Amino acid sequence: MKISRFEVFAIGDGPGVDPDKGGVEPLACIRIHTDGGLIGFSEVFRVPPGVVKATVGGPDTHFGRLLLGQEITHPERLWQLVWDAFIHTNRRGWEIMILGALDVAIWDIYGQMLNQPVWQLLGGVQRGPFQTPFGQQVEVTPYCTLVSDVWGGEPMFTQQVARAERLAELGYRAFKVEPMFSTPTDVVEMARRFRKTLGTAPTLMVDVGYLFNDVPTAVRVCRELEEFNVYFFETPFPVDVPDAYAKLAAKTSIPLAMGEHAVTRWEFLDMMDRGQVAVMQPYMTTCGGLTEAKRIVELAVPRGAIVCPGNWSTQILGAASVHLAAYSPITPFIEFAPAEVFDSPLRQELQNAGFPVRDGVISLPTRPGIGYELPREIEKKYQLS
Ligand SMILES: [Mg+2]
Repeated sequence: MKISRFEVFAIGDGPGVDPDKGGVEPLACIRIHTDGGLIGFSEVFRVPPGVVKATVGGPDTHFGRLLLGQEITHPERLWQLVWDAFIHTNRRGWEIMILGALDVAIWDIYGQMLNQPVWQLLGGVQRGPFQTPFGQQVEVTPYCTLVSDVWGGEPMFTQQVARAERLAELGYRAFKVEPMFSTPTDVVEMARRFRKTLGTAPTLMVDVGYLFNDVPTAVRVCRELEEFNVYFFETPFPVDVPDAYAKLAAKTSIPLAMGEHAVTRWEFLDMMDRGQVAVMQPYMTTCGGLTEAKRIVELAVPRGAIVCPGNWSTQILGAASVHLAAYSPITPFIEFAPAEVFDSPLRQELQNAGFPVRDGVISLPTRPGIGYELPREIEKKYQLS
């Protein structure tokens, strides 16, 4: 079965819905068609749709010239074919993010070809009975990312806590507060308010969105956060300073997390080894695809790190995260942007079409491939020109 054609289109909520309030920003989607009739699908987060349209198309385009006519064999072969062709080009950024999306779509086709869900082909479930609480099935647990319409102070605390309460009632078990664009005092207060209202049972993560430049301030904040049982502390510093991460990691018991914009396993390796970061957060497309994400898991295992796939995009990307989590022995959570608390009709419809969350968990998918089908009505209704 060979790759015969690419189809690229963009969907979004449109200018009426603010992406910072949960709206889906213009999002390129790719379908890979094959001569055997199977179709692979993926979204491409954070790459301008025009870039995807210009590079993924006919035989004269950047990716078309490499992949059109290629036989679908193991996705790793096709990944390597493209990667090798990049040796004299930029090897990071949009080039890898688009490769990542193509890789997810190729895994989707490969799974359909072999009539297996992708997680089976990534290696099957690798958490054995000794790593799973007795009597519990292997499932995938989403954590909800909470944002607010305003940042800092009382309105931020109130809105994020209210959203967490609503989601907890719906059965979600883990939450990430986002005291971004705020002060060290606000960061600590955000965690305090969460615990005061939600109690000790839910898992709590804290993401400060690159709030600090200096280690001593971040150390003081982490010391104060320790009493709130914080599962991880995300992106205290810009990610180009692994030494700052390492200095903070040495002074706090809270695991540090990063990786939302990191591309290739090499950036993750650097943050684990030089940055002493314990929680890797690759996006399944941004990092370079499921092929690269599996390699990140394989690098994290011997280092004792964990991999919690990031996803502030839609459940099209979330479907790929579920497959990685099903296979990975070190993935207790995947990130989830819960449509229930955002004013985005598209986010809600894409979530409805995805794997259902029941009692706070997602069952392992059974359909061949990735198993996410974008309903044609959604595609038509939200298509951007
Ligand atoms: Mg973040």
